[in-house]
Amino acid sequence: MRLFDSHAHYYDKAFDPDRDEVLSALPAKGVEGIVCPGCDLESSRQSMALAEKYPFLWFAAGLHPENLEGTSLDDLEEVKKMAAHPECVAIGEIGLDYYWVKTPEDRARSRDFFDAQLSLSEELDLPAIVHDRDAHRDTVDLVRAHPKARGVFHCCALSAEEAKVVLDLGWYVSFTGNVTFQKARRALEVIAAAPLDRIMIETDAPYMAPEPFRGRRCDSGYVYRVAETIAQVKGLSGEEAAEATLQNALRFFGLEG
Ligand SMILES: [Zn+2]
Repeated sequence: MRLFDSHAHYYDKAFDPDRDEVLSALPAKGVEGIVCPGCDLESSRQSMALAEKYPFLWFAAGLHPENLEGTSLDDLEEVKKMAAHPECVAIGEIGLDYYWVKTPEDRARSRDFFDAQLSLSEELDLPAIVHDRDAHRDTVDLVRAHPKARGVFHCCALSAEEAKVVLDLGWYVSFTGNVTFQKARRALEVIAAAPLDRIMIETDAPYMAPEPFRGRRCDSGYVYRVAETIAQVKGLSGEEAAEATLQNALRFFGLEG
């Protein structure tokens, strides 16, 4: 299987003991590409450094809704600078998270950052990697307000109906190891309904290890389990699902040919 992990956080301290060992072992497991999105300025810089080191790893720069404390919209100048790096393939990880961000003021502030970063993705013609937790309506509304933006709903938790709205706008949906869990019915419905050429796979490492590895530290070596789940739902072989999602990622991130 040739695999592309469209979302993994290799700067995370969970990889401090053996980051190089883990990353160096991935090509032999069929992992041909990885995108490492930052969540703040520091982790975006760390992701950039990893992208400079590993030829099969690219990065994204952005401010995650859970990481806005102490930031200002002026920090987006720094994101913009990083986005000019040749290995930067997206603005991310950006979005809304109403599970962790609770007060109306903080939520409004996170919408301002998401709005501004969607504008940045339009301005730079880079795709957006979008995190949406318990904020589907506002996230989709802001996406619709940026018709020139293109992007992906990572770890997609939209309903089939909501997913249709963003798919109709040309957006992609991406799935993590949680599609292998017992309660994944909703995501499986979206996989069934989405065109195969708009689906990507990811690990969100170090989180979300798929079954039967649930609870362990996750790395891109497990992303084949997500491909196998897509294959089951779509009636394909694992290889076919892996190849289709790999081609989708190459196209989405502008890495073809
Ligand atoms: Zn993530």
